[in-house]
Amino acid sequence: MVVTVFALPKCQKCQQGDLVPLSDFGSQGAPIHYKAWVCTNPVCGFNVKIRNGDIYLNEPIVSGVGHPPRPPRG
Ligand SMILES: [Zn+2]
Repeated sequence: MVVTVFALPKCQKCQQGDLVPLSDFGSQGAPIHYKAWVCTNPVCGFNVKIRNGDIYLNEPIVSGVGHPPRPPRG
C-alpha cells in the first residue's frame, strides 16, 4: 500500500508530536486549507492558527460540544 508521503514538521514544543494541518470552511462555505496546525500529542496541545491574516499561537483547544468522541473500534 502506497501512502502519500507528507513530511509533517515536528512539534517544537514537546519534540514528540507532529504538527498536522487542519482545514476549515469560511463563512461563505469556501474551504480554508491548512488554517490551523495542531500537535498530535494530546498532552501537548500546541497549535498555530491563522485568522484574517493574523497568526494565533497556542490557543486553548475547545472540544466541540455535541460531538462526543467516537468509541474505539475493535
Ligand atoms: Zn507538541
